[in-house]
Amino acid sequence: MATLSIIVPCYNEQESLPYYFTAMEKLKPQLPLDFEYIFVNDGSRDQTLAYLRKLAIANPDSVHYISFSRNFGKEAGLYAGLQKATGDYITVMDADLQDPPELLIKMYQEIQDPEIDCVGTRRVTRAGEPKLRSFFARMFYRLINKIGQTEIIDGARDFRLMTRQMVDAILELTEYNRFSKGLFSWVGFKTKYLPYENVERVAGTTSWSFWKLFSYSIDGIVNFSDTPLNIASVIGALACLISIVSLVVIVIRTLLFGDPTSGWPSMVSVVLLLSGIQLLSLGIIGKYVGKIFLETKKRPQYIVKEDEKLYRQFKLGDQTKND
Ligand code: UDP
Ligand code: MG
Repeated sequence: MATLSIIVPCYNEQESLPYYFTAMEKLKPQLPLDFEYIFVNDGSRDQTLAYLRKLAIANPDSVHYISFSRNFGKEAGLYAGLQKATGDYITVMDADLQDPPELLIKMYQEIQDPEIDCVGTRRVTRAGEPKLRSFFARMFYRLINKIGQTEIIDGARDFRLMTRQMVDAILELTEYNRFSKGLFSWVGFKTKYLPYENVERVAGTTSWSFWKLFSYSIDGIVNFSDTPLNIASVIGALACLISIVSLVVIVIRTLLFGDPTSGWPSMVSVVLLLSGIQLLSLGIIGKYVGKIFLETKKRPQYIVKEDEKLYRQFKLGDQTKND
């Protein structure tokens, strides 16, 4: 039987995890696949780790977990999970049941088609989400698809079922600044999207504040597009042209008509406008330089403090070694 690796990044999910695991186990008989769970505890401050330990002890064959030394973010969690996955098919799911497990059956059927390497999911509604957030999300997708070189589908979730081959391709991208939605699309292969209605999280609260999402979307743009840099240079070039033309006009006008002191307010506004544009451009360049800075340090994406093997060895004296 083929194996399905299920990667679940968890940050403060003690309330949702029991629901999640029950739902998945209920699904198991309906799929001709062995399950390999890989839970990634992303530095949770609640009892998530304790729950995962219990789960791994109770299901030594199917449940694996990795626990980070602190919160490294969902992207790092996904990467760690993909690295650890050994299955023939790999799926990425949220712990809060916002990614409906039943969809996996349909996804598995679709991926049997040899033409298809990945079956993704796409929310067609954003019901239950704050209006302002939906608005900005929509704007973001419109913008990034206009200026980016990589297509990013509006409403596409990270929830997807991939073949081994595609995951191996993703693992070859070792960049530090990860924006998975873009990476999944960048590696190519054929992805089919299944639409579904938005589901609200089963328990707990979302860990994404508006500003966290905002800076995540800036990351997405900076990681997959150099258009902001080009815009900065185009605006700079335009400003130069306009100022040269107006200089010539002013010099000629002064020579012909005199009146040297007029035009103070307009000059001040032009100076302000130009210095504003300069600072903005510097900021844009700074964003990219910052990314390069982080990238060149080659720091690891995450640091593992514990996994189920370490836990067994150190905490339980490896009682399971003999059975
Ligand atoms: N998550 C994570 N690290 C973080 C934030 C979130 O691993 O720093 C996980 C979280 O446990 C969940 C998934 O990423 O399984 C999606 O997070 P959440 O449900 O809070 O986001 P939303 O669905 O509201 O976008
Ligand atoms: Mg969620």
